[in-house]
Amino acid sequence: MSNKRDDKQNKDKNNNFFEKNPLLVFLIISTALIFLFKNTGLSDSLMSKGNIQRVEYSKIKSLISENEVNQVSIGKTSVKAKSGNGLLFVATKVDGDSGLVKLLDEKKIPYTAIDDKNYFLEFFFNWILPIGLFLLIWSFVSKKMQKNMGGGLFGMGSSKKMINAQKPKTKFEDMAGCEEAKDEVKEIVDFLKNPDRYISLGAKIPKGVLLVGPPGTGKTLLARAVAGEANVPFFSVSGSSFIEMFVGVGASRVRDLFQEAQKEAPSIIFIDEIDAIGKSRASSGNIGGNDEREQTLNQLLAEMDGFASTAPIIVLAATNRPEVLDAALLRPGRFDRQVLVDKPDIDGRVAILKIHSKDVKLGVDIDFKEIAKMTVGLSGADLANIINEGALLAGRENKKSVSQKDFVEAIERVSIGLEKKGRRIREEEKKIVAYHESGHALISEITKGSEKTTQVSIVPRGMAALGYTAHTPEENKYLAQKHELIAKVDVLLGGRAAEEVFLGEISTGASNDLERTTDILKSMIGIYGMTDVAGLMVLEERQNSFIGGGGTSKNYSESLANKQDEYIKSFLSERYEHVKGLLGEYKDAIESIVAKLYEDEKITGDELRNIISAYEIANEKPSKLVKREA
Ligand code: ADP
Ligand code: MG
Ligand code: ZN
Repeated sequence: MSNKRDDKQNKDKNNNFFEKNPLLVFLIISTALIFLFKNTGLSDSLMSKGNIQRVEYSKIKSLISENEVNQVSIGKTSVKAKSGNGLLFVATKVDGDSGLVKLLDEKKIPYTAIDDKNYFLEFFFNWILPIGLFLLIWSFVSKKMQKNMGGGLFGMGSSKKMINAQKPKTKFEDMAGCEEAKDEVKEIVDFLKNPDRYISLGAKIPKGVLLVGPPGTGKTLLARAVAGEANVPFFSVSGSSFIEMFVGVGASRVRDLFQEAQKEAPSIIFIDEIDAIGKSRASSGNIGGNDEREQTLNQLLAEMDGFASTAPIIVLAATNRPEVLDAALLRPGRFDRQVLVDKPDIDGRVAILKIHSKDVKLGVDIDFKEIAKMTVGLSGADLANIINEGALLAGRENKKSVSQKDFVEAIERVSIGLEKKGRRIREEEKKIVAYHESGHALISEITKGSEKTTQVSIVPRGMAALGYTAHTPEENKYLAQKHELIAKVDVLLGGRAAEEVFLGEISTGASNDLERTTDILKSMIGIYGMTDVAGLMVLEERQNSFIGGGGTSKNYSESLANKQDEYIKSFLSERYEHVKGLLGEYKDAIESIVAKLYEDEKITGDELRNIISAYEIANEKPSKLVKREA
């Protein structure tokens, strides 16, 4: 049994050697053949069956003189002499020796001229070797190309290999923590399952859906799950694979991809990392652009416009950098729908941990909620990694099951790399973010003219690094009153103020808030004429032309500029003191909000208002909660 396997392995090894080094093998064999023919008289023995002796030229001459031979053949390069007893003597001819014929005439030995060119060798050198080499090099190149573009040499660019359809078994239940994204693509699944139902109604189904989200959140997984749920062929390509190729192939590859998908419709085309081809032409920077990429992109656009919106083909694409995509890609009829695949919240993380530990032997002390709490900001891929790392740790210690301790250690391990990349939020940061966001949220709910809070979270959303406080601006609002702008400033300052009041130390987390408050004030002074700094005068700052030496020039005096700066500074510090005062007043409310954020990582607007209201009632304070319409 084991012998058999060894045999097979050996064979494999040999095959491998031939496959890997066909050129080398070919050269070795040819050299050996040439050597054989040239130096061993093999060719002679092929021609005459008798005994052959290679001898010196002078030896042949002396044999002739001694009447030892009875027939001689003279070729261009060799002389052969046959002796009476059947021996054949062969010698290389000495050039310019005219004595041989004379000698033969004298001895009356019959001689004849022969054509001693070695046709075999000649044929070999002129035909077999070059053709062999050519074929070898050809097969080399075509193999390389196949690897690069999935097509054989003869089907350059027809890329048949690459576009094999898959039938993923992935289902929605294999992923968690992105319920909204799942809900959004369910319609697509239904369309792919029952296209006729939609088509007969004349409904237009989205052709292209862009899956957007940070790395590792499950975009690829979701695309496969759509195919798996709908049970349709899944044509998957990666955007970057289009680019690393010969000119012109990218475009034809796209063409084939769509052709193939159409043949097997209903089907899904999935273009992973679409930013590799779909980068905005304007932003690509290099003048003249990347022709290959542009052709590929144009082909993609043409194909997407080409098939009818009733064709049961859906093009899914994934990217973590939607902002760099060419606007043409996002136009109606192309990728006009975006689905955000975001980082999971705490419940999502628990669910993901469960999914990935299905096949892991878990100890009795496992508490996924605890692990989820320690992994704010991590993606599904990170969590899968932690489960595996934990199992490896337990395995190393030869344990029967994986314990909570293993997972905690795994978090540490996995996090080291992630913290460097700024993807995991450290415990200390979690605290800062919680207070910071609570500050924003509280101020927005007790300041007239502010926007209503819909959700507060300490889980980073989208590409942002830290938490967020989301507001719903009122619809159809085109004007802002002065008190509303000031409310905005207060809310923005709430984050920084909370850090100072509750943690005693400020962080870098407020930089964006401060930038925005400064901008608002500048606008109030110089654009809206809302202060007495410049009165109704509009302050303009112009970019000078390069001829004028670049830089900026102002339409107002330096002293007004100084006045503006002074005003902004003192106004902001006044608002800041005010906000700090409010926070101090609502200290316990903030602590409750922070506690809730710690527990659930997020808090809805209603929960937030309930906490504030409960606090006011308990302390018999007149309510500052903003009453809003509807
Ligand atoms: P992306 O394409 O967004 O970078 P992937 O889909 O490639 O992420 O995710 C990589 C792996 O991480 C998946 O194969 C899966 O094992 C795991 N994973 C990521 N997100 C999730 C999720 N939401 N639920 C379950 N597993 C996930
Ligand atoms: Mg992916
Ligand atoms: Zn902030």
